[in-house]
Order: sequence, then C-alpha cells, then structure tokens
Amino acid sequence: MNKVLTTCPYCGTGCNLYLHVEDGQLIGASPAAGNSVNNGSLCAKGHYGFDFVHHPDRLTSPLIRKNGVLVEASWDEALTLITDRFKSHIKNFGPDSIAGFSSARCTNEENYLMQKYMRAAIGTNNIDHCARL
Ligand code: SF4
Repeated sequence: MNKVLTTCPYCGTGCNLYLHVEDGQLIGASPAAGNSVNNGSLCAKGHYGFDFVHHPDRLTSPLIRKNGVLVEASWDEALTLITDRFKSHIKNFGPDSIAGFSSARCTNEENYLMQKYMRAAIGTNNIDHCARL
C-alpha cells in the first residue's frame, strides 16, 4: 500500500491527509500530523468521504447534449464548444451577459484564477462564490 500526501478537496480549510492506494485503488484516508492546518485530525468527510472516486456513476468525461441526448465528448471538443458559445454571447450580448460562480471546495489559488479569468478573459466583474448563494 502506498500513502500519498495530499489536500482534502471537500472545503476551503484544506486539511492535509494521506490517501491509501493499493493496486491502483483508493482504499482509505488518514490525517497528516505536524502541520498547522489540521495537525492529525480530519472531519468525517475528509476521513470517509472518498467512495465517489471509483463509483461507476462518476462522470469521467465531458457530456455534450446533441439532439436532446447527452453524448460523451473529448475535453478538446467540450472546451472548444464552450469557447465558441462564450465568444458568441459576448459578441451578441456583451461580456456582462456571462457570470462565473466559483466554489468553496476550490483552493484560494483556483478561486483567484477564476476571478482573473472572468475579469481578464471574459471582461466582466460578474464573479461570485457558492458560499454567498
Ligand atoms: S477534512 Fe473536513 S474540515 Fe478538513 S478540508 Fe476536508 S472537509 Fe474540510
């Protein structure tokens, strides 16, 4: 079994934990000690909430609705579609027709990149966060 040091993805606290991996399967988690964030403790989500990783219902590729049916797509196809739609909306309705909503489950760095993307690439200040919804 390998123990992989990582950061819990469930909330912005960012507790340090070890994921226990055996034969390519995630089989457990345990808290990391000696850090100033959680120092050997985890809440129930961080300790036991990893069943989704290998769940058969988990989405592992983008889905695009075609003729009313969701169809698996490549990331290139999905991102190209999103880019084209954003460009079309900005051209027809202006950048303020688009809003971005980020998440408390993201890191500070990811939330920073999200607001930077909305302001610098899309051209709007319409950016908010799920903790305020
Ligand atoms: S272990 Fe609990 S408190 Fe810590 S980051 Fe995960 S969800 Fe948040």
